[in-house]
Amino acid sequence: MRERNTYAEPYRIKMVELIEQRDEAYRKDAIRAAGYNVFNLKAEDVYIDLLTDSGTSAMSDRQWARVFLGDESYAGAKSYFSLENAVRDIFGCKYLVVTHQGRAAENILMGIFVKEGQRVLGNMHFDTTEGHIRLRGAEPVNLLRKEGYDTTCELPFKGDIDLDLLEAELKAGAPEGKVPFVMMTVTCNSNGGQPVSMENIRAASALAKSYGVPFFFDAARYAENCYFIKTREKGYADKPLAEIAREMFSYGDGATMSCKKDALVNIGGFLAIKEDSGHYEAASQKQIQYEGFRTYGGLAGRDMEAIAEGLYEGLCENYLEDRIGQVKYLSDRLTEAGVPMQLPSGGHGVFIDAKRFLPGIPQECFPAQALVVALYEKGGVRGVELGGCAFGRKDPATGEDVFPEMEMVRLAIPRRAYTDRHMDAVADTMEQLQKDKDSIKGMRLVYAPDIMRHFSARFEPMV
Ligand SMILES: *Cc1c(COP(=O)(O)O)cnc(C)c1O
Repeated sequence: MRERNTYAEPYRIKMVELIEQRDEAYRKDAIRAAGYNVFNLKAEDVYIDLLTDSGTSAMSDRQWARVFLGDESYAGAKSYFSLENAVRDIFGCKYLVVTHQGRAAENILMGIFVKEGQRVLGNMHFDTTEGHIRLRGAEPVNLLRKEGYDTTCELPFKGDIDLDLLEAELKAGAPEGKVPFVMMTVTCNSNGGQPVSMENIRAASALAKSYGVPFFFDAARYAENCYFIKTREKGYADKPLAEIAREMFSYGDGATMSCKKDALVNIGGFLAIKEDSGHYEAASQKQIQYEGFRTYGGLAGRDMEAIAEGLYEGLCENYLEDRIGQVKYLSDRLTEAGVPMQLPSGGHGVFIDAKRFLPGIPQECFPAQALVVALYEKGGVRGVELGGCAFGRKDPATGEDVFPEMEMVRLAIPRRAYTDRHMDAVADTMEQLQKDKDSIKGMRLVYAPDIMRHFSARFEPMV
């Protein structure tokens, strides 16, 4: 990777969005009124919004130009075919099922494949994916290599699946029809946007195939994963990113995609299927019921144009260098300040290890949520908890609370939206919190639904 001080952003700014900075007293009132859940804040009360990199990208002049070319025909729109061409080219998938966002594609995929009592294997499922698997009465099984959970061990591909565990699960479940498919999430969002190597993808796909089990990608951040393969894996340094993407997808039977990430748009998703063994027709029937007709699936023609353009822009090397370089820039500044994080930094944000940052707060008292609240109160920075609230749950059999391995605060960086000076402001706030972290208290969960808890949970601070 080139040093960040040897190049500047590969774009210049044509339009700006004004933001406001409130004071700390105002923010303390706002977060209390929000039930100490940052999802309930008004966005205008946030100074630097790192809640998510989803749907928050700045579109390019070319994407906006294509918005005007959108064909809004109900059936057979030209814009659908531009998107279909892009998906065929990059994903190598003949069949495209357009959806309003990624989780709708998951809903359709699970609806076709997943039955009660099955086990869906993966490196580490994303929260909405877990939710859709559980809604079908099936079990999401995370088989991430164990180093992926250890924030202190620096390895290039911490998103890899553990091949021994995968084989054991396939051996036990596949012959009885208990494994509907394997799902590889690239990059692996839940443990820090950590990449999966081509070698691991190739081997996992071959294993699945040997048991007759389909292999799908959760491709929301496929381009960032390809960039990591190019810069970290032997044999890929000189390959164009599009070629790396084509090789990667060649190992799968299809993909779900949230275009709100690496396609650099504000809304959209799809399910892509390589071969039609009846699955496309089944998927399309569900699409028509829940999303819309085949050639628009819940999107406007202009959205499909912007996605078709964004799929290519998202794969540009100078863009990805700047993007992933900015994530590393923030990660380096926080490391200098002594903040414990998932290292090396991943594709879309910085993941702070709240167990290590706040060792005095036990996981039952939601240390990551406590840090999210403190970060907002102190600096107006909105991050998100990915820990005991997002991934914890009540075991339906025993009624006991089950906590996840990792307790993280994610600072996700929107694409092309913030400058390095915004990153400096975030790092300065974290530095201050690092100095007086003894004043941060745990949180009590006072309300949470059963599934996808963090979106609607409410908390109270402990005294
Ligand atoms: C965002 C995301 C999803 C869900 O997509 P939405 O567009 O938010 O519905 C699924 N998987 C991964 C890895 C994601 O990052």
